[in-house]
Amino acid sequence: MTTTEPRAELPMTVPADGLPARVRIHEVGPRDGLQNEQAAVPVEVKAEFVRRLAAAGMDTVEATSFVHPRWVPQLADAEELYRELSGDPALSEVRLPVLVPNDRGLDRALALGARHVAVFASATETFARANLNRTVDEALAMFEPVAARALAAGAEVRGYLSMCFGDPWEGAVPVEQVVRVSRALIDMGCAELSLGDTIGVATPGHVTALLTALNEAGVPTERIAVHFHDTYGQALSNTLTALRHGVTTVDASAGGLGGCPYARSATGNLATEDLLWMLRGLGVETGIDLGSLAATSGWMATHLGRPSPSRTVRALSAPSHKES
Ligand code: MG
Repeated sequence: MTTTEPRAELPMTVPADGLPARVRIHEVGPRDGLQNEQAAVPVEVKAEFVRRLAAAGMDTVEATSFVHPRWVPQLADAEELYRELSGDPALSEVRLPVLVPNDRGLDRALALGARHVAVFASATETFARANLNRTVDEALAMFEPVAARALAAGAEVRGYLSMCFGDPWEGAVPVEQVVRVSRALIDMGCAELSLGDTIGVATPGHVTALLTALNEAGVPTERIAVHFHDTYGQALSNTLTALRHGVTTVDASAGGLGGCPYARSATGNLATEDLLWMLRGLGVETGIDLGSLAATSGWMATHLGRPSPSRTVRALSAPSHKES
């Protein structure tokens, strides 16, 4: 698949009121994306993927996860990959956060010099049990000393919260429940809280309700990031709603990599290119070059043996966009 930079007039830039001037994209393709892809990707291809994402202008690329390889065999090369990336001078200005599931994961990350780590909790009991084999409160109790040690080592901690809008077993998730766990993550020292719509069921009114409730509980919007899934085609509407609320950090996955094993369809993460297309149209700065990003996703799609699920990647690689 070849991809070329879109013609200069596409999309037209027409700014709208009430939006931030700049949005920081927290790229999750190499971790959240590849972790949920069937195909095994060689470590050198992953390293090249991160380098290409950085070359496209990304300043935050979530690299991998120091979970036990038995849980996530796709990321069994975490050490090798992180060592390769952290030793690359071309990536010295790029944040490379890694997930740490427990003390052992944190030890592995800190031993390699990781400066940005993330812990992950669930807003629902069923998913906490499925993903961490613990109750919600047991998981929080496990992460508390992990976060404290990370902070003491000078690392910045991000908290992921799954199932913030709906849970495949429990259905709708009460906003108060999400607020309670969010508060706990903030209180343990998470600099940033990423609200995950793990099965993609959020709609804009729900997004506003949760963000408002978090603000009322003392969680400032500046510390909130959003992580929407596009399972039902709502990810961009939900993102725009969050931006209007004042959120300026958005998680997205290059090429839309990574389905969710708990959602009904293979469509998972919001594609970074789809987000960039909207932001470019709105005149919101990201510092990322859409054409090179789409080309990178096309390149990765050939390694995975399937086309990118991103509408924007597909449109940009369609014949009308190819140079003659
Ligand atoms: Mg995701």
